[in-house]
Amino acid sequence: MALDSGQTALLRNEREGTYWQPFTANRMLRANMEPRTMVSAQGAYYTSSEGVRLFDTLSGLWCTPLGHAHPRIVEAVRRQAETLDFAPSFQLTHPGAISLAERIADMAPEGMNHVFFANSGSEAVDTALKVALGYHRIKGAGNRFRMIGRERGYHGVGFGGMSVGGIVSNRKMFAAGMMSGVDHLRHTYEPEHMAFTRGQPTWGKHRAEDLVRLVTLHDASTIAAVIVEPVQGSTGVIVPPVGYLQRLREICTANGLLLIFDEVITGFGRMGENFGAQRFGVTPDIITFAKAVTNGIVPMGGVIVTDEIYNTFMTGPENAIEFCHGYTYSGHPMAAAVGHVVLDVMREEGLVARVRELEPVLEDAIHGLKDMDVIADIRNIGLTAAIDLKPAADKPGARGAALFEAGLRGGLLLRCTGDTVSFGPPFISTAQELRDMVSTLRRLIIEVCC
Ligand code: PLP
Repeated sequence: MALDSGQTALLRNEREGTYWQPFTANRMLRANMEPRTMVSAQGAYYTSSEGVRLFDTLSGLWCTPLGHAHPRIVEAVRRQAETLDFAPSFQLTHPGAISLAERIADMAPEGMNHVFFANSGSEAVDTALKVALGYHRIKGAGNRFRMIGRERGYHGVGFGGMSVGGIVSNRKMFAAGMMSGVDHLRHTYEPEHMAFTRGQPTWGKHRAEDLVRLVTLHDASTIAAVIVEPVQGSTGVIVPPVGYLQRLREICTANGLLLIFDEVITGFGRMGENFGAQRFGVTPDIITFAKAVTNGIVPMGGVIVTDEIYNTFMTGPENAIEFCHGYTYSGHPMAAAVGHVVLDVMREEGLVARVRELEPVLEDAIHGLKDMDVIADIRNIGLTAAIDLKPAADKPGARGAALFEAGLRGGLLLRCTGDTVSFGPPFISTAQELRDMVSTLRRLIIEVCC
């Protein structure tokens, strides 16, 4: 459905900058570009305001694995709005939140049976950090205040998530407001040892020993938790080396540190298992989730914690609030209703198993680009992948930006950050759609880079 010129002018945001877009070069967008506006979406495709049908190569922002406008979700939203559109979340609840928590706990690794709801990945991360601090304090170890994140980690944009995050551009403007006592592990991505690896690299387990160094430097008695994404998604699908996450787990256990897996991207099937924890065979103490739990239709996030953590919080006076934390919209009825349908559809349509079937298809297709001189690296795991374009001389990021623009004309909605292009297609994609995505990508790369 193409828009008429009046509608397009409106979309051009004629009241300059009234809508200040997130993570966007707003002035560049307004000065140089046609509006990048999606006007509808069905299944695995968006339609742009220019009437172009675009394959959704990143499931929105990693969050719509079931595709768009799923009829059962649409119906669930309508029904829930008619029945119970809001219920206060403090001191009260509603049946959908309780039963969704139970279903999520059933999907989690053994011994992780307690779910606290938030509304986004950033809120989930801040919740996890607060759970870790509270847990140690109740245990009489309130001096465990430090958090360890990892270079290149993305944990959202709250003050907690920003502080443990490891993306320089997201940190430097706000350095004055960082949480104190945060340190970082080195990242595990060294292309000279792992470029063009399919799945997990065999090099890099030793980088987990960084944690031993930080424990020695700060003393374990001052550290509350370590937070990592099992696969670093936002910085371009950086896959954990074989044995790395296991070694982090050993070091955390030996030193009384909580291990938090930020599974905002890897949770709910994207790794071909319910959670990355199961894919990599490592059980953390806390898992954060968001995005796919509601297929991106309404916001929801949360944390799953172990029995040990929950039971520790439940040891204080019975009439006192155990965890002074929560959001107006925690466990929102609309989100809970959608969460139930998402889990129903995932189970009935076998979508987690489907990810396992599609993983080798995506892997073979994307690594088929290896012959292109302009590509510096290709990585993949589960239903995720990334390619790095070699930066154009003196213009890092220019090739990624050009490719993004070409995609909008050529039928692919691409996620380009700098010269890295990340992929996380919907679980409902067919094998042929994934192959077509990669052959269109090859054509577009030739068009803009060669
Ligand atoms: N944590 C991870 C691992 C993420 O990938 C993201 C978003 O991409 C977040 C946290 C933040 O989520 P949100 O944008 O919903 O706050």
